[in-house]
Amino acid sequence: MSIIPKIIREEKFTLETLIDLLMAKGDDIQILYREAALVKLKYIGRKVSMRGLIELSNKCAKDCYYCGIRKSNTFCSRYTLSVEEVVETAVFAYKSGIGSLAIQSGELSNSVFIQYISEILTRIKTETQGKLGVTLSCGEQSEETYKEWYDKGAHRYLLRIEASNPKLYQKIHPNDKLHNHQDRIDALYRLKKSGYQVGTGVMIGLPFQTYEDLANDLLFMQEMDIDMCGMGPYLEHESTPLFDFKDQLMCKNDRYQLSLKMIAILRILMKDINIAATTALQAIHPNGRMEALKIGANVLMPNISPGSSREFYALYQNKPGMKDSPADSLEKITSSLDSIDHFFVKNDWGDSRHFFNR
Ligand code: SAH
Repeated sequence: MSIIPKIIREEKFTLETLIDLLMAKGDDIQILYREAALVKLKYIGRKVSMRGLIELSNKCAKDCYYCGIRKSNTFCSRYTLSVEEVVETAVFAYKSGIGSLAIQSGELSNSVFIQYISEILTRIKTETQGKLGVTLSCGEQSEETYKEWYDKGAHRYLLRIEASNPKLYQKIHPNDKLHNHQDRIDALYRLKKSGYQVGTGVMIGLPFQTYEDLANDLLFMQEMDIDMCGMGPYLEHESTPLFDFKDQLMCKNDRYQLSLKMIAILRILMKDINIAATTALQAIHPNGRMEALKIGANVLMPNISPGSSREFYALYQNKPGMKDSPADSLEKITSSLDSIDHFFVKNDWGDSRHFFNR
């Protein structure tokens, strides 16, 4: 007889039982998804929180082996949106009823970049009378910088650990000072100290990654007591070093299923956190984001980046919605939400309940 229902019923989540859940097959997968959906309905409901995603700049000082905008990718044309472009996009979001932004960028930490983000935050807050929420995802920074951005109005921050196992982390990053696993963990603590609602996440289906790694990723998130999570399947990009290992990857459908399982299990583990239905899920499956919402996720990030920049912010290939206008992205999402009996509340910040329940 299957042990999956017993694990879920008794809520005994250890490394071993989490691996069992991740390896669930057949009917057990549906049992897992049903339970996660119930937990979500009970703690979060059918409300989906929206973040208008703005891809600020693809200039990056880092050289992560999986990422299409890594510093050494000479095939990538680099851009940075002007402050005006960002503010215009933010005002569009605000007027469309999106309560909050997610501002994402390649990772730089020079003073020009720090100033640029500060100016963007100040302008957005002024132009929207402080009513638009802002999540930042701009990489590892000093405590001073995190505090400066917090004071300017950012109140949530996403920094993925990418892989909680230091050995796996080392295999997918250069081995140097800029790509240090412990430094990334320390950055998460600095974010917490600075007052943010803090999110992290991992890529799922990486070469060299094991089920044990993924189970430990879930335990890592629980131990860090995170407020939010963004995670999704790893997708290959031909101009990156990790592409050499593409033959070792799980097929796309397995990576998709495993990503859904990660979301479902995390929802059962951390009932009141925000979990994003990420773009990578949509890239790997045409209905990926909606399926994720059905089984545990509660945050959607429609891409509202100005059209000119979208194709250059290619972390992986075959990114969806490249040709859509910001209005198209929003329209598509709203009608999809209807189809799964979910809704979003206009101009709502959608903060992490976990943060306030703590
Ligand atoms: N540099 C910023 C955020 C930009 S990248 C930061 O570090 O916070 C945002 C996320 O995209 C990364 O954290 C990574 O998890 C994901 N990503 C990058 N390349 C990817 C790939 N090839 N497949 C799937 N996700 C990828």
